[in-house]
Amino acid sequence: MLTVNAYAAPSATGALIPTTIERRDVGPHDVLIEIKFAGICHSDIHTVRGDWGPQGYPLAPGHEIAGIVTEIGPEVTRHKVGDRVGVGCMVNSCGECANCVAGEEQYCLKGNTGTYGAVDRDGTITQGGYSTHVVVTENFVVRIPEGLDLDVAAPLLCAGITTYSPLRHWGAGPGKNVAVIGLGGLGHMAVKLAHAMGATVTVLSQSLKKQEDGLRLGADHYRATSDETTFADLAGSFDLIINTVSAAIDINAYLQLLALDGALVNVGAPPEPLPVQVFSLIGGRRSFAGSAIGGIRETQEMLDFCAEHGLGAEIEVIPAGKINEAYERVLASDVRYRFVIDAATF
Ligand SMILES: [Zn+2]
Ligand SMILES: [Zn+2]
Repeated sequence: MLTVNAYAAPSATGALIPTTIERRDVGPHDVLIEIKFAGICHSDIHTVRGDWGPQGYPLAPGHEIAGIVTEIGPEVTRHKVGDRVGVGCMVNSCGECANCVAGEEQYCLKGNTGTYGAVDRDGTITQGGYSTHVVVTENFVVRIPEGLDLDVAAPLLCAGITTYSPLRHWGAGPGKNVAVIGLGGLGHMAVKLAHAMGATVTVLSQSLKKQEDGLRLGADHYRATSDETTFADLAGSFDLIINTVSAAIDINAYLQLLALDGALVNVGAPPEPLPVQVFSLIGGRRSFAGSAIGGIRETQEMLDFCAEHGLGAEIEVIPAGKINEAYERVLASDVRYRFVIDAATF
């Protein structure tokens, strides 16, 4: 066992505090990673506060991990000491079901093992990236290419892959009109990635407050959803809409913006249902869909794509002592566009 510094929530209502957590001994197929940066994802906040179900405490969240390999098990072949690596939202899966065999481990039929707050293969509860070190089986560790700095790479492990995967699956590229609802942690990556893939990108945001940013990040158009003319002007025009908002929105109004055969894909996860009028789908053979992160192979592909196109997240690096303040700012949408914790401060 390795005892390491971490920041963890002591309860669903308590602020995160400095503590220590245990990491397992490095097994034959394990990699020990010295964490350099850990991103703060909105999911971290929902999870530690029990919004998505009861948790065990203390709980160290964090599933946007970038660091350096410092030790490997004797049978590890994919990574070596000194490699720059990342870990995202899952640290294991069954490896045998149809979805795992297809390289879509996030959809493991037996459930993937979440990076924190999940029951690990050895029965312990996983602890996330708000710590100095983590031990992960080699197949769930991805390589961060040289061209990407570790701080801007960390958020790619959740926000990056969560938007990259549906953009690829639904064919974002030249000649395609893609809209992104919400310009936050996920949305800003969706804009950068869709633009780099060659699509025409429109941001649909409540106001024009972040318009300048949106255009700088690669959007071709930026429209306010508080302006009624937006919905009339853009009716029937998008091949793909990525919804990054994790609150209830009038989904039928957005479905009307889809072109023939268009798809509206949810990557944000509001706790309440989104009522869909079936007529919104029938008129235009439209699809209403969802997507969860991406498989390990696709996560590697995403990192390689980002390195090739010089894409990282827009970040604000903070010391661990500012995590609680950062949570309040995330909840107030007061971050452009991702907080990343400097792991040297844990
Ligand atoms: Zn996340
Ligand atoms: Zn599986």
